[in-house]
Amino acid sequence: MILMSVNNQEYYDEVRVLIKAFHPFTAVEAKTTTEDVVEKTVCVTVEGRQISVSINDVILNGVAEDDSKKEVYHALKTTLYQALEKDTGKELPWGILTGVRPTKIVMGMLEEGKMQDEIRLVMRDKYRVSQRKTDLSLKVAEREQMLLKKLDYEKGFSIYIGIPFCPTTCLYCSFTSYPIAAWKKRTDEYVDALLCEMKAMAELFKGRKPDTVYFGGGTPTTLEPEQLDRILSGLEEWFDLSGLKELTVEAGRPDSVTREKFLVLKKHGVTRISINPQTMNQKTLDLIGRRHTVEQVREAFYLARECGFDNINMDLIVGLPGENQEDVRHTMEEVKKLSPENLTVHSLAIKRAAALNLWKDKFSGSIHNTDEIIEMTAQYAGQMGLNPYYLYRQKNMAGNFENVGYAKNSMEGLYNILIMEERQSIIAMGAGGSSKFVFPEENRIERIENVKDVNHYIGRLDEMIERKKKFFVENNI
Ligand code: SF4
Repeated sequence: MILMSVNNQEYYDEVRVLIKAFHPFTAVEAKTTTEDVVEKTVCVTVEGRQISVSINDVILNGVAEDDSKKEVYHALKTTLYQALEKDTGKELPWGILTGVRPTKIVMGMLEEGKMQDEIRLVMRDKYRVSQRKTDLSLKVAEREQMLLKKLDYEKGFSIYIGIPFCPTTCLYCSFTSYPIAAWKKRTDEYVDALLCEMKAMAELFKGRKPDTVYFGGGTPTTLEPEQLDRILSGLEEWFDLSGLKELTVEAGRPDSVTREKFLVLKKHGVTRISINPQTMNQKTLDLIGRRHTVEQVREAFYLARECGFDNINMDLIVGLPGENQEDVRHTMEEVKKLSPENLTVHSLAIKRAAALNLWKDKFSGSIHNTDEIIEMTAQYAGQMGLNPYYLYRQKNMAGNFENVGYAKNSMEGLYNILIMEERQSIIAMGAGGSSKFVFPEENRIERIENVKDVNHYIGRLDEMIERKKKFFVENNI
């Protein structure tokens, strides 16, 4: 147990995330105090040892007391990082960066016209990011920049459609997902509600053309072929898809797909699908509650090829319980044989909402993720002819690494870049959908969340539509 006492609430979240990055499997308890003992003191107690960082240390690090809040905040984090580094003897690959979008910083510097060498120095000296991660961020940011140039993203928008059902719930899942068997009788009601929301949103976006559409969840392909057909027909009827660059459907679980469903997707012009093994080791699939076989992954992949899909993504997770480097190597070898056009390598993140969190103590000793394993996955991606094109981080990731999307040239998922770089408004429909509205001139981003619970989504649909309508009027969109 780590006790953290922060006498300024403002620093609470970031300090906690930084401590967790050094101690991913230890509970961090916070004790906030209003006593103004030493202004801006962060005090961490690790198994009897105390690490105290106060504003005095920060001033010693070269920040004057009257400097901006952002600078003091940055210096406080740096000082705490140094103290934790000394205490644990560990360096973090991403240094003091705890946010989910490290490439945004690099992208910002590229847009300011900074040269690569200058960016490298900032990443090393200011943020303490390792050389490898800096190289990766630069590669990704340059690729994103090149791909975004092809889009008039400020004029367009993107669409997200959420289908919150899955064959079973995975141990690590923190998405909006309900087992399809329990909802079978009500999926038609869900589709009706979703279509209603889609029609209303299409009215709001009249005269504008979406650039990308993404079906996620959940697993959209848990729906029946005629339900998928209804949703895709609605999309075509109500939105002007004449400028569409990409239509992605997550067919994530191989136990959810059939030829008939693939043919429906193909008929409606779906350009990109995902078939996600997460691992090609059967013992791990069984452990994490996927309830499908490795063979089913291969069958689903070949079936998709037969049905004409030439842009397939595969999601993998590194750091799954019980897997070592050889297990990951086996997965990479098997995926290489399939040769997908896209590959997304995630580092396991143990989220509060996931069942895995309950079993953290049981599994923590068997969760391994190292720089060598991550590097190995990058090398395999290279051998498959795939380049990194987007990356993001999550809190509480095994090894404090990142998720990286790789793709063959011209096969990248543009939606992934748009959502990560927050360049474009995304209207999200369905239970758990989180719409994001970007106002570039004001440097402002607003989010509107749909409720996650399917019953509530169906019952409170009008309220959610009204909320978005009101937002459009108030913000003059
Ligand atoms: S397939 Fe994805 S959304 Fe469905 S339960 Fe597993 S992790 Fe959650």
